[in-house]
Amino acid sequence: MPNPAASSALPSVPKPGEAKTVSMISLGCPRTLVDSELYLGRLQQKGYQVVDEVEGSDTVIINTCSFIQDSIKESIDTVLQAVEMKKQGKLKAVVVAGCLVQRFKHDLIKELPDVDGFVGVDGFGDIETVVGRALQGEHPESLRPRPNVPHQGRRVARAALTPAHYAYLKVAEGCLKGCSFCVIPKIKGPLSSRPIDALVDEARQLVEERGVVELVVVGQDTSDYGVDLYGTPRIAQLLGALAKINGLRWIRLLYCHPKGISHDLIETIRDEERLCKYLDMAIEHADDGVLQRMNRLVTQAQLRERIQRLRELVPGIALRTSVIVGFPGETEAAFEQLLGFLRDVAFDRLGAFTYSHEEGSASFRYPDQVPDALKHARFDRLMQLQQTIAAELTARTVGRTMDVLIDEPDRDDPRQFLGRTSADCPEVDGLVFVRSDRVLRPGQIVPVRITDSYEYDLVGTALTSPTP
Ligand code: SF4
Repeated sequence: MPNPAASSALPSVPKPGEAKTVSMISLGCPRTLVDSELYLGRLQQKGYQVVDEVEGSDTVIINTCSFIQDSIKESIDTVLQAVEMKKQGKLKAVVVAGCLVQRFKHDLIKELPDVDGFVGVDGFGDIETVVGRALQGEHPESLRPRPNVPHQGRRVARAALTPAHYAYLKVAEGCLKGCSFCVIPKIKGPLSSRPIDALVDEARQLVEERGVVELVVVGQDTSDYGVDLYGTPRIAQLLGALAKINGLRWIRLLYCHPKGISHDLIETIRDEERLCKYLDMAIEHADDGVLQRMNRLVTQAQLRERIQRLRELVPGIALRTSVIVGFPGETEAAFEQLLGFLRDVAFDRLGAFTYSHEEGSASFRYPDQVPDALKHARFDRLMQLQQTIAAELTARTVGRTMDVLIDEPDRDDPRQFLGRTSADCPEVDGLVFVRSDRVLRPGQIVPVRITDSYEYDLVGTALTSPTP
């Protein structure tokens, strides 16, 4: 198969007057979504027309995830559906990009002969060539041995895949940690941060060109941001610089490693008004034996100390975490440790996963794998506990007035709008159902009196005039 990066014998972009259309299915997390926006932005620059509908587009790009077995299955199912659409004449070409391609490379290319082109995680510079050649039936591929982040210039071409009022800012690619269950460093490579000034420029551009008011800062391990460039972590400095951008109202930080939560970072979150009093910090587990086998570099006591410090210094901060249930060797006692910890700490938001047995991870070879049925039973017990905790926490907000960012109108009720408090991240956290006699626009921040609560969501009434 020809390597598109190595050959330029055939045209790779549409000629004037014959714009080809391209659609995107972006799977996985917001980090992949940013990559998808970059692919589409570049294709737009090269003369392609980006369309929402997959059916009827010339090419669909499926940007995949392969972090765990569920995401691999979802990615492959989506590719097979697209191939079927192509066979029915509803598409001309199917291009598969991202983590799945990077992780399984040549096996995937062999197993999916009906896919027209493949791009690994470092294929930004090749995307228009791969799409152009895929449309000509050449089956191109762009696979680099060492994946890394694209260091774009000052102006970043990104086609929006989020509503106009919020966007993700990916500050780095790759990871320096070595959690034993995780294959990400193998797929994405070591940490590669983008410079602070380039990120500030990109954020400013998102505000000016899209009207973004909420910026969600992402990376694999954002607390390590900058170590590779500056010698020490610079996440606090980056957030401080972003907080000075006019027009941005909310900035929130996702994907921190607990070990990297420094005093500097906590103080910055406390002191900068535009930084949401919110932190996403995966603990993964709370039993010391499991934490050690996970190679998480922290103990339960250290986790408690960091959480206590966060809550002391930033009163009311909303803490989000994620945990893995059923890690190899997780005994009933270890699981009880985790439950006890979650009961004590009462995280405001929590995501849980059952352990996924990933070839290539260090824990793949660990003895004492937990049977699936037991993993799922533990998962249910944990989620029941968190439901009770979440319901208690949301009930406490009834009667309060909170700023709510409006996301969209409720399609079924013209007097109801869907929004979020600053303690709720788009896509993963709760919603506020806002009653209002006047029309509210996405991106407006309005004071809302909370009148009722469910386990994860709130109900309220908009007060007086909204903030523009
Ligand atoms: S910090 Fe996150 S991305 Fe890095 S190895 Fe651990 S789980 Fe994977």
